[in-house]
Amino acid sequence: MLRYLEIITQKRTHFEDITEEVQKIIDESNVKEGICYMYVPHTTAGVFINENADPDVKWDVEQTLEKLVPWENNYKHIEGNAAAHIKSILVGTNTFVPIKDGKLMLGTWQGIFFAEFDGPRDRKVIIKIIEG
Ligand code: ZN
Repeated sequence: MLRYLEIITQKRTHFEDITEEVQKIIDESNVKEGICYMYVPHTTAGVFINENADPDVKWDVEQTLEKLVPWENNYKHIEGNAAAHIKSILVGTNTFVPIKDGKLMLGTWQGIFFAEFDGPRDRKVIIKIIEG
């Protein structure tokens, strides 16, 4: 089963908690045991798993990535968004979570985030549910 999650970003850097939407797709699939694979087919975006209980974690991650990879840094890339490409590489464009009893096996404090680093843009996350 293959599904798409559409995400419209409003600013340059945008993190969105997609945990509930992903769980909804698993519910619809009726898969009780397997793997939920998530893939972002974009060069300035990514997907990651981390704490979603305290919204400040999201802010701290965003600020730290900004310091590590500043927007201006004498990059050669002519499009002017090299920092977004580098952040996409650091965060990664795919992740997966095991499914048990029809639920994502996330830890208590974990959530799944989509991350855009060169918005606003219309984006998608490909969700593949693999039974087994
Ligand atoms: Zn570019």
